[in-house]
Amino acid sequence: MAQPGRPPAASGHSSQNGAGGERYSNGPVQNSLMHSSQMLDGQGFSSTVPGLYSHQIPTKVPVHPSSGQYNFGGSQNVSPLSNQGSGQTLNRPPVGPISMAPLQHASSVPQMLPPSQNSAAIPSSSSSFVPGAYPPALSNWQYGQTPMSQPTGSQTNHFAHVAGTLSTQPLSSSGSTNPATSYQYTVSPGGPPLQNSYMKPGSVPPPVNRPLASAFPPSRPPLGPPPAGGPPLVRPSATPVGPPNSSLPQPLLNSATNQEGDATAAASDGSLVQNSYDAIEGGGFMATTYPSPAPQNLKMGRNVGYSYPTLPPGYQNSSSPGAPGMQSSPLQYPAGPQPFPQPVLGTNHITGSMGGLSLQPEGLRSINLLQERNILPTTPLQAPVPNLHEEIQKLNCNPELFRCTLTNIPQTQALLNKAKLPLGLLLHPFKDLSQLPVVTSSTIVRCRSCRTYINPFVSFLDQRRWKCNLCYRVNDVPEEFMYNPVTRVYGEPHKRPEVQNATIEFMAPSEYMLRPPQPPVYLFVFDVSHNAVETGYLNTVCKTLLDNLDLLPGNTRTKIGFITFDSTIHFYSLQEGLSQPQMLIVSDIEDVFIPMPENLLVNLNENKELIQDLLRTLPQMFTKSLETQSALGPALQAAFKLMSPTGGRISVFQTQLPSVGVGSLKSREEPNQRASAKDIHLTPSTDFYKKLALDCSGQQVAVDLFLLSGQYSDLASLGCISRYSAGSVYYYQSYHHQHNPVQVEKLQKELKRYLTRKIGFEAVMRIRCTKGLSIHTFHGNFFVRSTDLLSLPNVNPDAGYAVQMSVEENLTDMPVVSFQSALLYTSSKGERRIRVHTMCLPVVTTLNDVYLGADVQAITGLLANMAVDRSVSASLSDARDALVNAVIDSLSAYRSSVLSIQQPGLMAPYSLRLFPLHVLALLKQKAFQTGTNIRLDERIFTMCQVKNQPLIFLMLMTHPNLYRVDNLTDEGALNINDRTIPQPPILQLSVEKLSRDGAYLMDAGSVMFMWIGKNCGQNFISQVLGVPSYVSIPQNMTHLPELETAESTRTIAFISWLREQRPFFPILYIIRDESPLKSSFLQNMIEDRTESALSYYEFLLHIQQQVNK
Ligand SMILES: [Zn+2]
Repeated sequence: MAQPGRPPAASGHSSQNGAGGERYSNGPVQNSLMHSSQMLDGQGFSSTVPGLYSHQIPTKVPVHPSSGQYNFGGSQNVSPLSNQGSGQTLNRPPVGPISMAPLQHASSVPQMLPPSQNSAAIPSSSSSFVPGAYPPALSNWQYGQTPMSQPTGSQTNHFAHVAGTLSTQPLSSSGSTNPATSYQYTVSPGGPPLQNSYMKPGSVPPPVNRPLASAFPPSRPPLGPPPAGGPPLVRPSATPVGPPNSSLPQPLLNSATNQEGDATAAASDGSLVQNSYDAIEGGGFMATTYPSPAPQNLKMGRNVGYSYPTLPPGYQNSSSPGAPGMQSSPLQYPAGPQPFPQPVLGTNHITGSMGGLSLQPEGLRSINLLQERNILPTTPLQAPVPNLHEEIQKLNCNPELFRCTLTNIPQTQALLNKAKLPLGLLLHPFKDLSQLPVVTSSTIVRCRSCRTYINPFVSFLDQRRWKCNLCYRVNDVPEEFMYNPVTRVYGEPHKRPEVQNATIEFMAPSEYMLRPPQPPVYLFVFDVSHNAVETGYLNTVCKTLLDNLDLLPGNTRTKIGFITFDSTIHFYSLQEGLSQPQMLIVSDIEDVFIPMPENLLVNLNENKELIQDLLRTLPQMFTKSLETQSALGPALQAAFKLMSPTGGRISVFQTQLPSVGVGSLKSREEPNQRASAKDIHLTPSTDFYKKLALDCSGQQVAVDLFLLSGQYSDLASLGCISRYSAGSVYYYQSYHHQHNPVQVEKLQKELKRYLTRKIGFEAVMRIRCTKGLSIHTFHGNFFVRSTDLLSLPNVNPDAGYAVQMSVEENLTDMPVVSFQSALLYTSSKGERRIRVHTMCLPVVTTLNDVYLGADVQAITGLLANMAVDRSVSASLSDARDALVNAVIDSLSAYRSSVLSIQQPGLMAPYSLRLFPLHVLALLKQKAFQTGTNIRLDERIFTMCQVKNQPLIFLMLMTHPNLYRVDNLTDEGALNINDRTIPQPPILQLSVEKLSRDGAYLMDAGSVMFMWIGKNCGQNFISQVLGVPSYVSIPQNMTHLPELETAESTRTIAFISWLREQRPFFPILYIIRDESPLKSSFLQNMIEDRTESALSYYEFLLHIQQQVNK
């Protein structure tokens, strides 16, 4: 639809995109985008759902079905498993009456949700805005939308009821014997909270320094709900004192839930932890000092000056900004409270007008993109370095973990709007780290007002007080914190590891737990229909699982279980003492229940032989099955019920469209429509999977989906099960063990990574930012539990997240702002941990400085996430137009507001020189491209990847790296563990760069192509490919032979090294010029024209035309 105040996109490009599209956040569309994307991200969902839960999950009365109500293959139907796959196993016995009352919670079965509450329905966002209804003035870009317009109170209700679910769980005798373990179950949102019984009288501190109201607006729940799905902390009315937000590190329930709600967790295995302060810090200093000294310290603080708090953070440094040596010289502090020589923040020369000074001179120049064609760096593009004082910057968070689209934060929303660039964060919070400081301290020091963890960017007013860098509240330094476990010196709180590391992990004390940390529980759900058996996947999966059984993250508490399904559901009793596993068949898929639940999830160590026996037997058991139906929905319901009491991970393998029972789907793909990209079905056709995912999330269960299908399986619907439960989606298109053998290796490798990678359970993540900034839209796989608390039943090291932000209040007088993510999780060893990342960025006041600090990769990544939302909520062509407009608008703004002299050509700031190229690459990416024959599931899967992958992989998938590999040398090579890894330069993605006498490797992330030119040197062909001549290169070659030649060693080392960098396994296709796969290779040549897409140069001309209007 045409848009007011904005001429429709012109020229060939627009015709390709369809008639004039809308921009991301332009006027009315802005609103619709933000609205819809929030809906899709779960917030919207949560805001509409609560009503459902209040009815559907009533107070927790355990359901005791009357006998006969459920049918299942009772004991007489138990079939022993045998390697022969006896007919007995395959003959489904007739169902008999139930012989025992299964433990189940039927009341939470999702299909009971009233249809009127179809919350998964996609809001008709864009259509609700009539063009012209808004004045043209609104056509200003506003990437940062007013945050959180969604009602949040209702979300709270939702969780209240989830909590209610918990309350009826095993601990029906509330608070009887073991308060420590039972309290989390017994709180009920509505009634008089039992928390009171756990509050120590007198332990609540006096309401000193009431927290800033703006940190927690009254309209939203003061505290985040606990990760265990606990109550939304309706504060007991009886609580006499205490500011709502002042949670104390004491074992009060209130503070406990407070801590939980606020904290966020990231998991890490102990194996990766190299620096642990446990031993040093464990003794001696107990967590007894925080609450009580607070008033005293404040009192003491009065001596040093009440004037401090009114000064901007970093004031203390102003005396010695340019003297980095200062802070290393140990100033004697005992002379009484005095400013610390902490190198943190706000050196005076961090001012907006000097924002670009730390950049290389080239960073300051403008580039005429039409003239300078060689803009692609030959080495991987690095994130821009924030323009902070060197001493601060060296403490800053690694950009691989945490980065911002704008490393110079605009001081006002008006300035941000002017820049026409999106403001947001990209996170990889649980990344595998080789070095991670871990602190075990009974006191975790956090701001008493906003709950920020102490970090390198706070300022110490003196040795007893620190000022929060997010809300500016002055806090006391707890006595324990005065001792530095690293230096073993007392009186150096600013040298503590917490203040020296932007990334750190805390061992969380008991107040961060709402229940005892859950054991690792792994449930595998296998499709065993005829179609599934045909693919042969079960062999690979069971074999890989067998091989890695001992490497599953866990401890002696690890539990494991298996379910298989076709048109019925099969459980496997692994009860101790059995000589072999027993299969229990439940054929009533309308009302699934769990037979003998106590023996279906069993301890891995104690029952390993039975488990191994089952894994060896399983692939043969169904080989004669003719059952074609797939009851995925009921199987997932069964899995959910089985996992509910503990939480854990469900891994479901599916090979076709679910056809019977709840959640069954119909094919919606019309192959003829693929290329047009019109009316394609990107939205779920049912909300069943989403609702079930939310139920799972409430019980700390995540579902990972492995889709191995040659036919349309409606991933748009199925994927919801993972998306909202914080799971992962894997897709193996046309998996077949014989017809598609390279997929077998891919599945093996990726499954091994999946099974053995770190995992965090019952996690929550919260992102905080300096007062004035506000986070409003989240991207990734999770459920937004409260306004900003992400619920992550599982967290894995391969998941990325993105958030959009806006400047809510002007950042006047703030030289810097900070962002902090905190991930609270339970490790596979049963430890409660908190991983914290803090990033500090300067604030600038001019448009030029904003552009100077632009991070083009982060911007591209965030735009890609926004474009997925737009594709789903509006249309693919809308999303494409919005991407193009993002380039046009930012370069137009740069031209009209920054450049003093109008020059011909297409001018871009140096920082954005790759912006048009990256956006063009997005348009040609499978998620967003048109005019090609992409399967719908493949497109949806790519969209899932955009949403869930860390930025580095998203960029690789969008703009692959191209290398010439027939002339690799050791020059500039890396040396890692005695291996020499060549580092060839990265080439532009254009056939112009290809020479017929060369060989080239294209690394597109999840796939690699090695293209061999017709005249490629004989040396390479024989020494690397191991064949005599070009014509003898096999048509479907996917492996390089390991030859005893230097060339072979180098090439293999390089490719192996590339593969090691990522959690997925890229298949390598070695192709000759005549290969049918050549078109896939050429498809990734972003700079070249294709049938349906512009070349880079044409794209630039199009942009220029629009910019110069
Ligand atoms: Zn604070």
